[in-house]
Amino acid sequence: MELKYLGPLGILLCVAVVVALSARLAAQPEDSAESLPGWITQRLTQLDPADPKAYFLLGEEVAGEIQSKVEEQLATQLFGLAFELDRADGSPTWIAPSSCLALASLARLESDGRWLRALASRLDPDYAPPRWRGASQDSSVSEAAFNTAEAVGEARAGHGIQARQLLDKLGVQDLLLRYGRLLGFSASTGALWQIDKWANEWPCRECGNERVVFRPDTDPPSYRECYTCRGNPGPVLTNDQLVAQLRFESRLLHGISRSWGAQLAIDYAAPLREPVADELASVMGIEADKPYWRNGWVASPDAPEEAGPTLDDEPTTDTPPDPASNTPDG
Ligand SMILES: [Zn+2]
Repeated sequence: MELKYLGPLGILLCVAVVVALSARLAAQPEDSAESLPGWITQRLTQLDPADPKAYFLLGEEVAGEIQSKVEEQLATQLFGLAFELDRADGSPTWIAPSSCLALASLARLESDGRWLRALASRLDPDYAPPRWRGASQDSSVSEAAFNTAEAVGEARAGHGIQARQLLDKLGVQDLLLRYGRLLGFSASTGALWQIDKWANEWPCRECGNERVVFRPDTDPPSYRECYTCRGNPGPVLTNDQLVAQLRFESRLLHGISRSWGAQLAIDYAAPLREPVADELASVMGIEADKPYWRNGWVASPDAPEEAGPTLDDEPTTDTPPDPASNTPDG
């Protein structure tokens, strides 16, 4: 709306800026390594597969200030290489499970994140999240998970007052928003909306969940079935809805990704994937066989620099890249 205050000169300036920005974007495609800051490329070149920790630490630094897709991909590749190099001798240290958790934090799909966290806890049980049951120092997350499962159960039973009290507890609405799609809603807000609605509609307005109503003027007193809830307070659910709710509650009560077995039992309509270390590279799209950075990831320290648009910036030799070392995805 402020465009009307711009004179012709202002509009010309705007157009010039847009054109200049477009030209800059065209000259520097976002998925090109040349858009990486100098300190990153310098550190990349120094990486040595004998030191997987250096890959992990650089990955953390890159992940800490991701500003572009190429940096996100770089952090993913660094954590993936740290994972592969650390376990290459058959005895992974803390680096492999830590890399899994780092990759989980970058994962776009929640199912990938769960898979990676499960893999981390399989490599090292210390990385498994704490169980809510039996833990003397329940975290607020675990308590919130318990309250959320109860809120769903109370709403299903028509105990609207109890459900409403639980909905007001710390973290409950957050968990419903975050994991609500397990209840079969396509929108993240659907589950919270539904539980909230049920909590408002119940208890039964006619019988107060007593299931029966007193017949007036009867002696001895007699009762009839409630016309509103038909003696069965609470929302009417389809089988699918009921199963989805039980899955959801089970998921909350068993913690998030405590084990892959529990995960498989409750994962809603997701493909089943056992956390196998050998599959991490393919799951995350990591080139595990290219641990050296030569202006791009290559398999050997002596390999020519990765062919591609990045060569424009740093002309090296007249030697064309060896076709044998080129990969089709370059
Ligand atoms: Zn009733």
